[in-house]
Amino acid sequence: MSNESNSIHDFDINLICEYFSAIERQGPGSPDVTKRALSFVDNLNESSHIADIGCGTGGQTMVLAQHAPGQITGIDLFPRFIDLFNQQAAGLKLQHRVKGMVGSMDNLPFQPEELDLIWSEGAIYNIGFERGLNEWKPFLKTGGYIAVSEASWFTGERPGEIEAFWKDAYAQIDTIPNKLHIMQQAGYVPVACFVLPENCWTEHFYVPQIKAREIFLNKHTGVKAAEDFIAGEIHEEQLYHKYKAYYGYVFYIGKKI
Ligand code: SAH
Repeated sequence: MSNESNSIHDFDINLICEYFSAIERQGPGSPDVTKRALSFVDNLNESSHIADIGCGTGGQTMVLAQHAPGQITGIDLFPRFIDLFNQQAAGLKLQHRVKGMVGSMDNLPFQPEELDLIWSEGAIYNIGFERGLNEWKPFLKTGGYIAVSEASWFTGERPGEIEAFWKDAYAQIDTIPNKLHIMQQAGYVPVACFVLPENCWTEHFYVPQIKAREIFLNKHTGVKAAEDFIAGEIHEEQLYHKYKAYYGYVFYIGKKI
């Protein structure tokens, strides 16, 4: 082994992908919320091109495809997610309009002003909200929309425990007015924003993980990386239940000017 820490890292990533491949969503959200965010977008027709960035296995992409016209390209870093994405599209007979591609959000495979809509649920944090809004904007047509969901603070002040958790997990978490300001500074009119209801975290995200955790831990009994990973997921869920009054996911919809 030439680089031990690299291979340990790859092993962890494989485990994480395996775990999240077993559930329909890889982040908080719901079909209702996808449809609600889409209701603010009014520029789409059969020849539109939509990108879903950090699409995962495509839970929200398929909802989008069933409620919006045009071509949809899903982009995700992990081939396993993209395989499942394309299988799902084929299962729903959407494969002619909906295609998953392996790629990275910091190096998107689109032409300038090619896109009518950029979608990204629970994924822009990987590049950072401000950087993503700025770097993705050239791919959007003028008058095109961006719709992203992002972890946000609901209050000006928070208990130390949850503040410390997020500082480590994603220091760019911020209040809703500050996020809207960033969106405006990046050259979008913020046309809407709304807080994702709690069932996006519970019914649609944490509940399906109960069974998934059991299966995963049975398969990887005694594998420390797997057990540590699940312990981290459980800790994160417990923090959510304890501090959900202070933070959550917010959908931000902006129009490029
Ligand atoms: N949108 C999906 C997945 C959200 S989880 C949902 O709401 O269910 C975040 C996703 O971002 C994961 O699928 C992860 O593989 C992907 N991701 C992480 N870094 C990425 C990058 N640099 N480029 C593209 N996708 C990335």
